[in-house]
Amino acid sequence: MKKAICPGSFDPVTLGHIDIIERAADIFDEVTVLVMSNRNKKDSLFTVEERMELIERSVSRSNVKIDTYNGLLVDYAKEHGAAAIVKGLRAMSDFEYEFQQALTNKSLYPDAETVFLCARGENMFLSSSMVKEVCALGGDVRPFVPECIVNDIYKRFKGDK
Ligand code: ADP
Repeated sequence: MKKAICPGSFDPVTLGHIDIIERAADIFDEVTVLVMSNRNKKDSLFTVEERMELIERSVSRSNVKIDTYNGLLVDYAKEHGAAAIVKGLRAMSDFEYEFQQALTNKSLYPDAETVFLCARGENMFLSSSMVKEVCALGGDVRPFVPECIVNDIYKRFKGDK
């Protein structure tokens, strides 16, 4: 039983995230999407619980679970016996930071491997912050996020104004 973790802030989940999660679910027996609650706390659009619910609604794979953690990722991996940490790589700009994280995690917990999946061409430019920026400026976010969460994003922005 090979378990993997897809960590991130997912504020909100995008089609780029979903692609990585589903490809990880094709490779591993069990995938946990781990919403890290210690990152970008101040300016987040959705609470951790809301982000988890939006992911839950968007992913229908039976081997994908959703959880949250506010400690060190490798401690979660150790506790849950995860063999891999799966990350999506968009461009070279992601690489340096991700490489640093992967090496740090490897020295903290050598039993877990970081696995990088290349983003699809159409998702190369896609990020949660880009979705928030488009929405804040009145643009259409439908090409970038799962259809079932579009209204939640619009509502949140309306409520904020
Ligand atoms: P972001 O970088 O958009 O703030 P997260 O921190 O939630 O997103 O990222 C979680 C994981 O998903 C990271 O491994 C990140 O590289 C990956 N990811 C984010 N956006 C995309 C995308 N458009 N295509 C592929 N992977 C992505």
